[in-house]
Amino acid sequence: MIIEKYHITNVMEHIVEEITNEMFAMPNIDMCICDRCRADVIALALNHLHPKYVVTEKGRLYSELQNYTFQTRAEVLTEVLKAMEKVKEHPSHPKEESIYRNEENIDLDELEKHFENISNNKKNK
Ligand SMILES: [Zn+2]
Repeated sequence: MIIEKYHITNVMEHIVEEITNEMFAMPNIDMCICDRCRADVIALALNHLHPKYVVTEKGRLYSELQNYTFQTRAEVLTEVLKAMEKVKEHPSHPKEESIYRNEENIDLDELEKHFENISNNKKNK
């Protein structure tokens, strides 16, 4: 919402998005990581949190965000984790279309060889 040069923004949207992005960046995340599921997690978490609107001047949101306490972040994290569980069980697309990060499928022997090769290359130089 914009009134002349002032913006009315729900800071929760930014905090939820930030924390959801952090969660989706985890290497061991065990749910679909597509954009639809990420958006569903954000919407679901926001529906369970009270909005916190602030008035900002253009480009000054960052300093507003800095004021949000650990407690707010902990509250948001709890809702994001709950939303992730729900979206994981009931994604908006068929489960077969899920995109997983698949870290557990990395072949450890292959990985070891890969690092051996790197260190051998370094020795040879
Ligand atoms: Zn998905």
